[in-house]
Amino acid sequence: MAPLANASVPKSTKMHSKVVIIGSGPAGHTAAVYLARANLNPVLFEGFMANGFAAGGQLTTTTDVENYPGFPSGILGPELMDKFREQSIRFGTQIITETVSKIDLSARPFRYWRESQEHEEPETADTIIIATGASAKRLGLKGEVTYWQSGISACAVCDGAVPIFRNQPLAVIGGGDSAAEEATYLTKYGSHVYVLVRRSELRASKIMAKRLMNNPKITILWNTVATECQGDGDLLNNLRIKNVSTGQERDLPVRGLFYAIGHEPATALVRSQLQTDPDGYIITVPGTTQTSVRGVFAAGDVQDKRYRQAITSAGSGCMAALEAERLIAEEEEGIEED
Ligand code: FAD
Ligand code: NAP
Repeated sequence: MAPLANASVPKSTKMHSKVVIIGSGPAGHTAAVYLARANLNPVLFEGFMANGFAAGGQLTTTTDVENYPGFPSGILGPELMDKFREQSIRFGTQIITETVSKIDLSARPFRYWRESQEHEEPETADTIIIATGASAKRLGLKGEVTYWQSGISACAVCDGAVPIFRNQPLAVIGGGDSAAEEATYLTKYGSHVYVLVRRSELRASKIMAKRLMNNPKITILWNTVATECQGDGDLLNNLRIKNVSTGQERDLPVRGLFYAIGHEPATALVRSQLQTDPDGYIITVPGTTQTSVRGVFAAGDVQDKRYRQAITSAGSGCMAALEAERLIAEEEEGIEED
């Protein structure tokens, strides 16, 4: 018979799930579709303006997505994410429009709290998929807000082919591998590409730097920063730039500006509990989505500093779901860890 004292302890009314997904971009929803079809009743927290994004993630901030397979005529970003959401719901995913603000991964079942409920009893999950995404760093230049997505972008691979950039002078800011890769990619579309590097040397790897410097359609402007984005009110057409060595300012007439100054992964929630790299990206076992904590998986931009595409995020969301499903099945069958 149970001790009497226990009889007065109220039974938890909080939710327990086999698998909880945090994040609602392509990674989170792809994981949800697979898990729901496997009858694991996934719960997906889509966030309420979490990390500055509406539910649906980064693609809700863009217009045409032309490189997501299956949409030969392209599709609007928000429409694509509505379709992801619809598909998750169709198979039974429970979607909660709240942000997970606190998590405890120190023991299983894992405990987590919703925003504004941090002092209440936690909810629990046997496995968790972190798909909280990332955001491109911005410079906060004068005119940046006016021309963001109207000449300014943080993804050349996503936006480089749009008509406003065709045969026009373009600029890239940054001196790392992303800047080198994006500038080289943009030479396919622009008439010329200027790369603004704030120091007198590149951070990019030797091979990427060599490719950048040898391209006749690219000019590197060393020791140069941008100070203002200008345009006609609708589209960008000029950049004010400054040589930081001489202090001299001048105009650089460009129709496109691409930021390649790094991204910020949305890992504040888990940074002290999961192994991350120096830039805060979650480290996963190569070829898998397994993090440093058994039962916690990471998918999408939060663990990928290199590709950062919707299709790669969706791909890793699928991997996370299959890995979580396998772990749950093994544990239910009593199979021990290798
Ligand atoms: P994200 O899309 O970043 O979504 C993460 C979601 O999780 C967000 O909604 C966020 O609010 C939510 N979230 C975060 N923290 C929490 C929390 N604690 N609780 C609950 N929810 C949380 N890629 C392409 O392939 N093609 C393109 O044409 C293209 N165009 C782009 C245009 C723009 C302007 C941008 C910014 C990106 C573009 N990308 C494109 C890149 C693509 O959007 C990303 O690679 C992709 O969205 C990453 O998906 P994700 O699932 O990792 O997360
Ligand atoms: P990164 O390596 O951090 O480089 C960022 C660049 O932006 C640096 O040159 C930095 O200048 C510059 N920068 C930062 N803040 C700035 C500011 N406020 N004003 C002007 N310039 C600023 O980022 P990344 O290039 O995105 O690369 C991230 C990681 O992904 C790296 O590990 C990279 O190797 C990898 N990656 C690899 C490939 C590939 O191999 N194909 C492609 C892309 C990315 P400083 O140098 O002066 O700091």
